[in-house]
Amino acid sequence: MVGGGQLARMTHEAGIPLGIKFKLLSDTPQDSAAQVVSEVVIGDYRDLATLRDFARGCDVITFDHEHVPIEHLRALEADGIPIRPGPHALVHAQNKGVMRARLDEIGAPSPRHRIVADPADAAAFAAEVGGFPIILKTVSGGYDGKGVWFVRTEDDAREPFLAGVAVLAEEQVDFTRELAANIVRSPHGQAVAYPVVESRQVDGVCDTVIAPAPDLSGELAGQAQELALRIAKELGVVGHLAVELFETRDGRILVNELAMRPHNSGHWTQDGAVTSQFANHVRAVLDLPLGDPRPRAKWTVMCNVLGGDYPDMYHAYLHCMARDPQLKIHMYGKDVKPGRKVGHVNTYGDDLDDVLERARHAAGYLRGTITE
Ligand code: ADP
Repeated sequence: MVGGGQLARMTHEAGIPLGIKFKLLSDTPQDSAAQVVSEVVIGDYRDLATLRDFARGCDVITFDHEHVPIEHLRALEADGIPIRPGPHALVHAQNKGVMRARLDEIGAPSPRHRIVADPADAAAFAAEVGGFPIILKTVSGGYDGKGVWFVRTEDDAREPFLAGVAVLAEEQVDFTRELAANIVRSPHGQAVAYPVVESRQVDGVCDTVIAPAPDLSGELAGQAQELALRIAKELGVVGHLAVELFETRDGRILVNELAMRPHNSGHWTQDGAVTSQFANHVRAVLDLPLGDPRPRAKWTVMCNVLGGDYPDMYHAYLHCMARDPQLKIHMYGKDVKPGRKVGHVNTYGDDLDDVLERARHAAGYLRGTITE
């Protein structure tokens, strides 16, 4: 696996019961996954020679993030190494302009959009979609809301162009909530769909995921799953695909973006589904039959733990574990820095209010924002 973050750490964990020999390319020995994987190569994933050295002896390569240059992946593929998901698919997760163009081709619903050349062109786009505000996004390099601007005037539209990357303009969608349709697809074309979840963001960072999305009509849930399966098939995705969606006030779903790797909106599956997203990603990458994606409880809630000024986890564990014996804690071994995702908790049960309260309490306590 290329990339040493928490997704690699948890994918490695899912491979242990299968006896998989897991090799990691990581930026530093301190990275989340590098701390726990036995075979770690430290190196720069942007360097082709490093990737080639790393790939020697690997049966298949997969990713913790989407940033490996596509031309390097094509070179590895030409060397005969299976890349899953392959560069032909990953390019859509790397470049929002390419993604939007392809989604249009296959008739997947997107916000109105186009590439804009400069602030005046952004203002022209705004006029086309009924006026400001609009959203501007750099086509590549963004994450957790970085690389996304809410633009109210032509003057506001200057900043996105400073990075020297192409800029995509989108209408501002009047959405009631964000959903995610997560599926896993194998090279054989077998695919499984998880229940559609609701994902709540705070300051552009995922805060809470509720599985399944409360009060989502069966029809819309089915549409979202069908859409994700179709995107995966058309784009040739192998492994986990997260389709981030907006549910609009008038009852439609629109695609926000795609992630081709295990995803934060699927962390609930570790404790809430028969087969976790990580286990199914491993199975897909190895072209093994996929596992049952169905939920194990009526409701599962995931809350991210952000770093606070609270490095004393032992004391926090005492309190949280005593308060809620069913609580599942997943910490990533990262230094606690304010605002950084350092772990998550999962809770499950029959009563959504109770399940939500327990997850929020634990995440807040582990962060240090709740003290009793
Ligand atoms: P990132 O790649 O950083 O995750 P996203 O494209 O997901 O960026 O955008 C971050 C957030 O900005 C979204 O979760 C959503 O809340 C908001 N957003 C993005 N695009 C739109 C849009 N077209 N209309 C309204 N809000 C949007």
